[in-house]
Amino acid sequence: MSAATHKALFLDRDGIICEALPRGEYLVRWDEFKVMSGILELLESAKKRGYKLFVITNQAQIAKGLMRLETLHEIHRKMRELLRGTLDEVYYCPHKEGDGCECRKPKPGLMLRAIKEFDIDPAQSFFIGDSDKDMKAGEAIGAKTVFLKNKYNIEELKKCTPDFVCATLAEIEEIIG
Ligand SMILES: [Mg+2]
Ligand SMILES: [Zn+2]
Repeated sequence: MSAATHKALFLDRDGIICEALPRGEYLVRWDEFKVMSGILELLESAKKRGYKLFVITNQAQIAKGLMRLETLHEIHRKMRELLRGTLDEVYYCPHKEGDGCECRKPKPGLMLRAIKEFDIDPAQSFFIGDSDKDMKAGEAIGAKTVFLKNKYNIEELKKCTPDFVCATLAEIEEIIG
């Protein structure tokens, strides 16, 4: 029997916490960060129900030299403040595809850190994302997967088999209930 005590929401950042950008575009400045309408309500509601809340994000902009690490940290500090301290931790992969790291989604490295540091039971947890990589990352740790649709990710959805497909954050709130 698992000794892990907490359940969690693993949340992708771009497309879940803030609005999705068109494929191939990267958020590199705070003024490009448009918080998703309804996300704070979802996080506060999940928190009340006992979920730990983690952002799990690939940030290849760092490896590609498009953004400084200090800038990423500043964006994440402001994001956590905007979300009223609901996030337990923000984990990011600074590498790019082909670097061979263990943390870039769909690899489970970032989530394995959260599981260890916060004593999480993946089987009681959800991965909420908007891409094929997110769904495969969730599957890799044995979490249930939730795909949030937007105007950019219809092709992504064809590549994966999420446990749940939602059009709104309100639908996600019902699923995790
Ligand atoms: Mg995304
Ligand atoms: Zn990495």
